[in-house]
Amino acid sequence: MLPGEDARAGEIPLMRRGWEFEGRKTLRVCRPRPVSKSQGKFAMQLTDKNRQDLWKAATQALSQAYAPYSRLRVGASVLTANGHIYAGANVENASYGLSLCAERAAIAQAVAAEGPSMRLKAVAVASSQPGALTPCGACRQVILEFGSAALVLFPGEEGLLEVPITELLPHAFRLSKEALPGEK
Ligand SMILES: [Zn+2]
Repeated sequence: MLPGEDARAGEIPLMRRGWEFEGRKTLRVCRPRPVSKSQGKFAMQLTDKNRQDLWKAATQALSQAYAPYSRLRVGASVLTANGHIYAGANVENASYGLSLCAERAAIAQAVAAEGPSMRLKAVAVASSQPGALTPCGACRQVILEFGSAALVLFPGEEGLLEVPITELLPHAFRLSKEALPGEK
């Protein structure tokens, strides 16, 4: 368990083929516990349908991944404040550093559809890798950009974890308005 997780785990029923997580019919969800009053005030609340829809979209997206180099297929889905879900898959490149993560591909889809005011409520990540997989550091920073109260769902050792982005990326980089040209 990660710090801040709650032992009151829920179960997400996975009813259709392709949703399974390592052969299990249900996914245990370790519900996050707010680490401070301010986080609790702003923490997003997801319904089980939100979780099912996010997981379904993420697992479907990973089948579209372009990962000929690492062979690690990743699918991500995002739930926006408008209630829509968008998905993306990782897109690798022969010049390895140009590879794009699934999380950022999904976020780009959401921005393309909803514009610059798009805000994230939650992000889910699924992969072809057995066991745990968390968003990389770069994706954590990009998720925070669009939703400082976003919840991130990803496979942990014992099931699907649901963790606030601020717990995945404490002390994140933030650009102050004073640092922007013409903002003084
Ligand atoms: Zn990433």
